[in-house]
Amino acid sequence: MQIQDYLNAGKIASEVRENARKKYHVGSTLFEICESIESEIAKKGGKCAFPVNTSLNEIAAHYTAEPNDQKTVQETDLLKIDLGVQVNGYIADTAVTVCYEPSFDYLIQAAEAALKDAISMIRVGVKSSDVGKTIEQTIKQMGGVPIANLSGHSLEQYTIHAGKSIPNVWSIGSFSFLPTEAYACEPFVTTREGLGFVREGKTRNIFSLVSRKKTKDPECDKLVDYIWEKFNMLPFALRWFLPQWKEKTARSLLEKLVKHKVVRSYPVLIEANGQRVAQAEHTFIPQESGVTITTL
Ligand code: MN
Ligand code: MN
Repeated sequence: MQIQDYLNAGKIASEVRENARKKYHVGSTLFEICESIESEIAKKGGKCAFPVNTSLNEIAAHYTAEPNDQKTVQETDLLKIDLGVQVNGYIADTAVTVCYEPSFDYLIQAAEAALKDAISMIRVGVKSSDVGKTIEQTIKQMGGVPIANLSGHSLEQYTIHAGKSIPNVWSIGSFSFLPTEAYACEPFVTTREGLGFVREGKTRNIFSLVSRKKTKDPECDKLVDYIWEKFNMLPFALRWFLPQWKEKTARSLLEKLVKHKVVRSYPVLIEANGQRVAQAEHTFIPQESGVTITTL
């Protein structure tokens, strides 16, 4: 494990996240938000570990801007900005929710409080199921409902979801935190009218490479080489192929690669009763007496 790379990625991610928290996003398009955050990451010397996610309201996760996406943030919107930075493949994954409608502030506060309570109980040897229990309790005490089928995760070099899940509710099946691994904790909170789980939506605009097997289509294979070279196995967006490829060409090549199962696409995740969702997220490394939060 490269601690220094994790720390360097975390420092960039936290600076960029705090700038996004302070900024007034009403009137900006999702395209402008994604592109400006991604270019800020690059300016600070990091690489994107995945396309910036700008998930609005009942969309809990996995929405990134389409090329020239004109969807504009409104005064009443609740916007989750989830960003990832990687240095030599070591990832910092962090998120902030912004909202200009005070009646939903409690959702953001519950997500932030649950994250804080979870992280302050973690050290080497703590069980993930106990962390889930704490997250659930804090969220419920603050009048919210946790999203049960979204969870935090272990991280590995060039791998965002490395196999272990940190639940957002009490659940059976558990692992103990190790000092040799980095993890992301990410409580998601919805309202009491919410069902507390997400379903898959139709939109899919985040992709990742599954394998490098040849397709017999040289244009497809060329795109796969580009993906591997630039993003390794990490997620990417169609936007990232422009202007080297025309939008229409890139879209049809991607479609073919998804059909060949060389690339997978991720559906947006939507609260099952259409209720708004807030999120908070940090990346950390457990220690014997606490944690190092890389994205603090
Ligand atoms: Mn994230
Ligand atoms: Mn994450």
